[in-house]
Amino acid sequence: METKRTILIVDDSEFVRNYHTYVLEQAEFQVITAVDGSDGLEKLYSNRCDLVLTDINMSNMDGYEFIRRVRADIQYRALPIIIVSTQGESRDKAKGFEAGATLYLVKPCAPETMVENVRMILTAA
Ligand SMILES: [Mg+2]
Repeated sequence: METKRTILIVDDSEFVRNYHTYVLEQAEFQVITAVDGSDGLEKLYSNRCDLVLTDINMSNMDGYEFIRRVRADIQYRALPIIIVSTQGESRDKAKGFEAGATLYLVKPCAPETMVENVRMILTAA
């Protein structure tokens, strides 16, 4: 059997973490969760992750700063990072891509859209 790919979910909402975890586990992914950007960095450094899904609005360290810090480390330059945020304005998206995001999805995101995009990016990576 093929080894499961690991997704790191970074979101300060317990509801969103649980929901995204459920959706991705149903799609046969292994999931690790973090409650904010700094927790996300810790989880990333202590696990082998294939892809990151991150929120933007989080206390402590927001998604933009989290992505910038991840990208500052050369070993994570190619790590796929998907922003999943309620903020859907084009300037938010521009800021996300500037920080280094691979893709920007707007919440609420249909489960099949999320899974499709994750699969597509992992196939391309
Ligand atoms: Mg949030």
